[in-house]
Amino acid sequence: MAAPITGKVLLVDDSQQARLAIKDALRDTFSIFVEADDGLSAIKAFVEEKPGFIITDIEMPSINGYRFISTIRNMEEGRDVPIIMLSGTKNSLKKKLTGFNLGASDFLIKPFDSEELLARVKSLLRMRNLMDELKEKNALLEKLAVTDELTGLHNRRHFFEALREQLALGLRHNFKLACLLLDIDFFKKINDTCGHMAGDDVLRKIGALLASCKREGELLARFGGEEFIICLFNTDSENAILAADRFRNLIKSYSFSSSFYPATHITLSIGLAIYPQGAVISIDELIKAADSALYRSKTEGRDRVTLYEWAPSSTGNQS
Ligand code: GH3
Ligand code: MG
Ligand code: MG
Ligand code: MG
Repeated sequence: MAAPITGKVLLVDDSQQARLAIKDALRDTFSIFVEADDGLSAIKAFVEEKPGFIITDIEMPSINGYRFISTIRNMEEGRDVPIIMLSGTKNSLKKKLTGFNLGASDFLIKPFDSEELLARVKSLLRMRNLMDELKEKNALLEKLAVTDELTGLHNRRHFFEALREQLALGLRHNFKLACLLLDIDFFKKINDTCGHMAGDDVLRKIGALLASCKREGELLARFGGEEFIICLFNTDSENAILAADRFRNLIKSYSFSSSFYPATHITLSIGLAIYPQGAVISIDELIKAADSALYRSKTEGRDRVTLYEWAPSSTGNQS
């Protein structure tokens, strides 16, 4: 169900006269009034009409106000919708307490004063708006916490979280994963000759290119500086080498340019390690292994992929 509609209110009361009085009081506050005369049709109206506010009576035929409120509060879409209960004076304290326990936001005794109803509705709407703003800000913060600002890719922190999750699943399924550590060759030269802005532009473009070449389910992140990391799941070393070469060739064949720097070609050195193998039985060991393979790609001439192969005699070093 989509988000509740702010200007729409659902009025639930078996008395048409009561609904009329509420409408009169709130004519300038809401643009659409949806009406229901019992709890059951009110639940249906809530699902179909997505109102952003509810005012409900308690005593009604079939499903009463209490059951209606608790049904709404048990629905994901109904958790935060403001609900005002209206009821006669009889046993009003007991009714009030029951209603609040079930999740009502406010309570008014019938016959109500129009100005008081209006004031309470406005106060709940203000709270609702603040809560919506807070939710939006939280969602943005959550996204920022796992996103690399420059490239828009996932950051290192998200990478480790996601990988830990995948490993927990993998332990049950006994799967293999391949980790690719990709480092731009001679990147410092770009900063030195074309400027830092050009370096940033290249990093952004490489991020976008890698993302476009990445397949569904593969994990890609900016690992830091001019390094990227990719995890391929349920992949053996032969297929991982093919994938690594796919990424390497994509970057190599691309001509990087912009209004503030001339056409430039760039290569990547890649270190590749498979988990689990030998002593590579943790994420730290996996990264270390990929890093030592990357080091070898660098020392052997760059623009290449090196596979880390564990040998019983090795102690975490490249065999
Ligand atoms: P190598 O082939 O050995 O990897 O050489 P390199 O020049 O790529 O490696 P080095 O580690 O010497 O330099 C990496 C450079 O990346 C240095 C640093 O200023 C630059 N860098 C790191 N992060 C950023 C960034 O966000 N923007 C820009 N423009 N440069 C960055
Ligand atoms: Mg009634
Ligand atoms: Mg580096
Ligand atoms: Mg580099």
